[in-house]
Amino acid sequence: MPARRVLVVGIDGVRLDTLRRLPTPHLDALAAAGFLAPVRVEEDTPTMSGPCWATVVTGVSVAKHAVWSNDFTGHRLDVFPDFATRLDQQDGRRTFVAAGWRPLMLPRDGGPLFRAPSATVHIAPRADTPEAWEECDERITEAAARALTEDGPEAAFVYLGAPDETAHVLGCGEAYERSVVRADARLGRLLAAVRARPGHAAEEWTYLVVTDHGHVDAGGHGGRTDAERTAWLAAAGPGIGAAPGRVRHVDVAAQVYAALGRHPDRHWTLDGRPFAARPHAVLLDMDGTLVDTESRWLDTVRATVPGIGADDLHTALGRSTPDTAALLHPLAGTDPDTLAARLESRFLDAVRQETALLPGVRELFTLLDELSIPTALVSASSRPVVDAVLKLLADAGVPAFDATVTAGETRRTKPHADPYLAAARALGADPAACLAVEDSPTGVAAAEAAGCRVLAVPSYLPVEPGPGRTVRDGLGGLTVEDLWAAGL
Ligand SMILES: [Mg+2]
Ligand SMILES: [Zn+2]
Repeated sequence: MPARRVLVVGIDGVRLDTLRRLPTPHLDALAAAGFLAPVRVEEDTPTMSGPCWATVVTGVSVAKHAVWSNDFTGHRLDVFPDFATRLDQQDGRRTFVAAGWRPLMLPRDGGPLFRAPSATVHIAPRADTPEAWEECDERITEAAARALTEDGPEAAFVYLGAPDETAHVLGCGEAYERSVVRADARLGRLLAAVRARPGHAAEEWTYLVVTDHGHVDAGGHGGRTDAERTAWLAAAGPGIGAAPGRVRHVDVAAQVYAALGRHPDRHWTLDGRPFAARPHAVLLDMDGTLVDTESRWLDTVRATVPGIGADDLHTALGRSTPDTAALLHPLAGTDPDTLAARLESRFLDAVRQETALLPGVRELFTLLDELSIPTALVSASSRPVVDAVLKLLADAGVPAFDATVTAGETRRTKPHADPYLAAARALGADPAACLAVEDSPTGVAAAEAAGCRVLAVPSYLPVEPGPGRTVRDGLGGLTVEDLWAAGL
């Protein structure tokens, strides 16, 4: 697997409208490969560099990191550290930060924001003037480019401050625009430095370029106007597709962790969510998701429980045979065990005789195989039914699952979390880092109870989209980008 790397470039105080009308070829290239999207500074966050950068690099909001101004005194960065510090201290990953603005790097004004990255470069501007800041950014770019080419940190943050200083001193006019164009040229040099790495071909780089806040026309910020509150993020890298519906500053650090395949610990209590994260494993429902056994099942239930109404029939979807029998035996006029046995044998016959793979299933497995993502089958059907379908899948050339969980193999079945938890455990994966693929509300409930991300492909009953849940018409045409974004 290629080595994963991530570069975050923070450019201070660049208005989105300014950016959009200027020639910024390097940023445009990233946007074309991924996206450029507006970011709205949260309502309770002052539109200032301290609070906004703290949110960007920690992945938590001001209420947690407590950086409320450009004086960082009173912060809680030891509890909610920046990603460069956390990745070094917790995982032993090499990280790098280069910045000129003092509170980011020095124990000054309550800083530093970056507590203890593996390596840092700090070059302060000799004065707070646009010229001095251009010179500072120039030297930071040079030093960062060298570190990127020669050291190849797993996660890096490079800060450029000249556009913000220029707007403060001269307003958002031509000098500001020239400074933004120069920042784009410096971004280009950082990207070239990455491409110049001897090992670049064996690496997968994610690029995140972000600003902290905007400016009023006359220059200056801190207020609540749209011009100040509108920031932006450009992102490109493996699995990053079109812009998500909403991007927030807290999502940047979350995406840094996702880009490295590092699923955040629960106790980090990140407020951000990544917009593209490779699932650590894909857990797939069988009936109605991979094969149209739901039709066979409904035919079987209809034939075995004559006179059943539509509502009762729907309760049989996504449930195990014993659970279905327990619910429906009064209608069938038999005891639950007899009904379960009848349902089971008729269903098995039907599956063997007339089951086909649903559209897109074969392509999905090809994709997962190419990506070396482990898979598990998580079914509420019995072992004999599952084995019959596994044989159909094998005959169709679908690679074998790494684990299978069927009814009766966990204490409780769907809609309880048990089968999904068992599947994740069998694969050694954190359930929260797994993507579950389900067609029924019962299956979705089980996957969500286990804490999995969910990709729903509804068959008989509707499933509404929601947090952690993506809904698609079917599995046909699913891309890597769809898979990375599903259920976030
Ligand atoms: Mg199903
Ligand atoms: Zn500023």
